Amino acid sequence: MIQDFTLHTHTIGFDGDHTVAEMAMRASELGFKTIGISNHFILHPDILSAPCYGYSRRGHYQNIYCDNFDEIMSRFSKHRDDLERVAADANINIRILRGFEADFFYYPEWQKQFQKAIKILQPDYIIGACHFVEHNGTLCNVHDMANADSANRDIMLNKYWQKIRDASNSGMFSWMAHLDLPKKKLVGTDEKWIDTEAKVIETLKQNKTPIEINTGLYRPYCNEPYPSPRIMKMVANANLPVLFSDDAHNVNQIMRHFDEAKQLAQECGIKNYLTLQKILDFSQKNM
Ligand SMILES: [Zn+2]
Ligand SMILES: [Zn+2]
Repeated sequence: MIQDFTLHTHTIGFDGDHTVAEMAMRASELGFKTIGISNHFILHPDILSAPCYGYSRRGHYQNIYCDNFDEIMSRFSKHRDDLERVAADANINIRILRGFEADFFYYPEWQKQFQKAIKILQPDYIIGACHFVEHNGTLCNVHDMANADSANRDIMLNKYWQKIRDASNSGMFSWMAHLDLPKKKLVGTDEKWIDTEAKVIETLKQNKTPIEINTGLYRPYCNEPYPSPRIMKMVANANLPVLFSDDAHNVNQIMRHFDEAKQLAQECGIKNYLTLQKILDFSQKNM
């Protein structure tokens, strides 16, 4: 087995399709010793007026977005109780960890409120994510990037990569999620971005920020994971620690494409793989 834990997963009540118990049982059947549930922690005062909020309502996953601290705390407190109940269930024979996939934001209150949330909820790890950039007064995601004209798209993509660097510099995250996320909409795939990507990897290297190889992008979208092989080669050269994530939103996606991703990582020269212990040690030191 490539990795006996899987830590990037989503459940019902957020944007996943199955319960914590269903996800845990499936992961256990597949041979995992540990599953971590990492639902979205997305807190921004303007999020409900962002274009993405409209799509999310149509898709019935608007619960992942929150515009105020009290509400996100009440959602996550209830979720924590649910996770603890399942973890204590005698029928569940897999270790269950509690994580967040947290969006990094710049507005002044964010860091303070996020630190407060960590203190109260005490997650086992925090995945850093940048699903949004602030552009022309609006929170834009990768779909908005893809729909913009090329000049605006380039500005947004530069902001995206800068945000990844700033998130790494914050030192708050156990690892960074889906590094080249805009690739989902074929944004940023051309070669002119290689220098920017190299600077990002340099920052991650200075901060020793690990990254995930996220297999959520493999088919039907694309034939590679996040990040692309060209970034993986930079990751290998920088000797950044790496783990595999399936970003499962339902039981059938757990462990998806791990074998292919492992092979690709090896071909790209990646040798430094994160252990669960290292992830938990980071949390102990930094949270
Ligand atoms: Zn994500
Ligand atoms: Zn995710």
